[in-house]
Parts: sequence; structure tokens; C-alpha cells
Amino acid sequence: MSADVCLRNGLTYERNQLKSNLLEMIEATGGWPAVFRAGAKVLIKVNMLAAKPPEMAITTHPVLVAALAQLLLARGCKVAIGDSPGGAVGGVEKYWSACGYREIADELGLTLDNFESAGSTPREINGITYYISNSITTYDAIINACKFKTHLLCRLTNGIKNSFGIIPGLGKSVIHSYCLRPRDLAVHIVNIYRLVTFDLVVMDGLLSMDGQGPSTDGNPRFEGLLGVARDSVCLDMALSHLTGLGPEGLDIVQEARKQGLGKPWREITVEGSHQFSNFKIPRSSFYNLLPPFLGDLVRPFLKKVPQGNEKCTGCRYCANACPVNAITYPRGQAVMNRSTCIVCLCCHELCPENAVELRQRLRRRK
Ligand code: SF4
Ligand code: SF4
Repeated sequence: MSADVCLRNGLTYERNQLKSNLLEMIEATGGWPAVFRAGAKVLIKVNMLAAKPPEMAITTHPVLVAALAQLLLARGCKVAIGDSPGGAVGGVEKYWSACGYREIADELGLTLDNFESAGSTPREINGITYYISNSITTYDAIINACKFKTHLLCRLTNGIKNSFGIIPGLGKSVIHSYCLRPRDLAVHIVNIYRLVTFDLVVMDGLLSMDGQGPSTDGNPRFEGLLGVARDSVCLDMALSHLTGLGPEGLDIVQEARKQGLGKPWREITVEGSHQFSNFKIPRSSFYNLLPPFLGDLVRPFLKKVPQGNEKCTGCRYCANACPVNAITYPRGQAVMNRSTCIVCLCCHELCPENAVELRQRLRRRK
């Protein structure tokens, strides 16, 4: 009988080793789905949150992506890599290079798919319209090549959350800005997850991250963990369970289960395991305690406002990414305008110096 989730640990980023592990793990979860046939156009949907090198543990590691791509090429598939990072409004080129995807695309003849330039299509779900990248609809099969790490708002980010990148451009920022309660953000993420069909999930938990996350504010830590599943919800439940939060301890998982996704934990079969030791996960947000109507009422007053700190080098990287031009440099260091800021968190996620803090403070309505 095949497992819902297959985990292997003690691994390294050695491409041939990962290829054989992947083959074995895909077999353990029921084999290659039929969509991965010769001639099929396959997207490897990576987590490309920031234009950072792989050793910072922010993005799906290129060696794992290369191993997966080689297995697909051997099956006769045409392979592309794609994602829409939060700050890509100024161009996605530097992301491909910094994350190591340009190099493997050149080596293996893969396509780098720019979700930003493909245009978007409105799709409605649960009464809300989302604009998803047209790129997504052009593939025969999509692999969710997610990164397992911590996340300030979602506590952990992994399979379900990796679907957020199908929203190109500033759409993601707007959704963030509407959600004071992480529980509300979880509703949007699960809605978006339902708009894309992942045919296989491959989780990069080898170089993971704990602490705040999901970007330069987290601590890279090597876990050597690789995951394969058919269903992202089952995978997220298994990882949440292993970290001690319980299989339904995450807002995202609770929302997914509420929307009828995944399976009851007792029915999920997991082959393999992993022991996390002193893995630091952000606390559940105080705002989740607010009832939804109160959350909406206080949101304008209680925004988490990004602020530059003394580590700022004035590189202007954040200002170039800010969708509403809310960042200035009066004394050579970044200052975020609290009135203009839509709290998209781009500056927080992209700052190379970890110089943007999120501070909770009362905020006067203008
Ligand atoms: S806050 Fe960070 S990204 Fe912005 S200018 Fe300062 S160092 Fe650069
Ligand atoms: S200042 Fe506000 S709107 Fe601009 S990038 Fe930062 S969080 Fe987003």
C-alpha cells in the first residue's frame, strides 16, 4: 500500500543521491502520476520568495530542483521553473540568478517562467475573486516544490502556502494588507491553493529555517529532511505534527480541513519520520483571538508597521520593491511612511540586512 506522505532524513544536497531518493519516495507514494508522460509540459513551482542565495534557506534549493528536473527530462517531459516573488515588480531576473535557478536552467535546458509577464485571469472561489497568473493554465502538470521553514504570520510555511505565488505582481501584497488576523490570511491562502492543481509535492526541508522566518529574519538550520506527497495538506499536517504543533495546529491546515481538503489525521499514512530538536517556531498571533468583525474594525489602528532599524545600509532595495512608494531616506536610512504603507511586508521579506522590523503600535487614522 502506498503512503500519503514519505519522509527521508540524513540527506545532503548531492544531486545523484537526491535523484535516487526522489525516485524511491515517489514510488512509495504511489508512483509517478500519469500526467508526467513523455511530451508533457511540467512546471516546477518553487518557493522563490527573495533574491537570495540557497544557503540562506529562504528558497527551494536549486540542487533539489535540478535533481527533480533531470528525472522529469528522463521521462521525456518539458520542464519549466516558475514563481512570483513578493518584490518582483521591479523584475524577476535577479531572482533567477541569485537563487541558482538560472544556472541549472542553462545547464539542463529548462525554461524560466516569468509569472509577472504572462498576464492574469480572474477566478472566483468562496465569493472572492483572485487574479491568477496565466502561466499556471498552460501546463499539463505542476509540481509543488515547496520549502519547509518558519513564518512570522503562518508559524510554518510549506506546501499549501507555496501556492500563494500563483498570484502575480502586487496581488499578494493587497491580500496581506487586508488581513490583520493570520487566520484570515489562511482563508485566502487556502482559497488560492484550490485554484491550482498540484500533481506532486516535493518538500525541501534539508536546509530549513527556524526563528521568525520566512526570510532574512529566520535562522537557517540543516535538517537533512526531504518529503514527497501527492497532497500538500497531508504533507503540511505531517510536518506540523512532527514539530509538536499537532497535525491541525496551523491556521492554514485548519482552514484547509474546514474547506474539505486533506484527510483526518488518523487516516494519513506517513512513511519515515524526523525528530526536530529545539526547533523555534513563532508564537500564534494575539490577533487570532479577536472575533472577525473586531479584527476588521481595529485593523486600521493596529497595523503591524514596518520600521527600519540601525542595521539599514541605505541600499534602497526595499524602496525599489515597495508597491506604494512608502519608503524614503531622510538621513540615509529607510523610513516607512505609516500612512501610505499597505503592509505588504515586501520590505521586511526582502531586506538583505534584516533591518526592517515589524512593530505593533497604535496608529492614528488619518
Ligand atoms: S531597510 Fe534594508 S533593504 Fe531597505 S535600504 Fe535599508 S538595508 Fe536596504
Ligand atoms: S513600506 Fe509597507 S507597502 Fe512598502 S514594501 Fe514595506 S510593507 Fe510594503
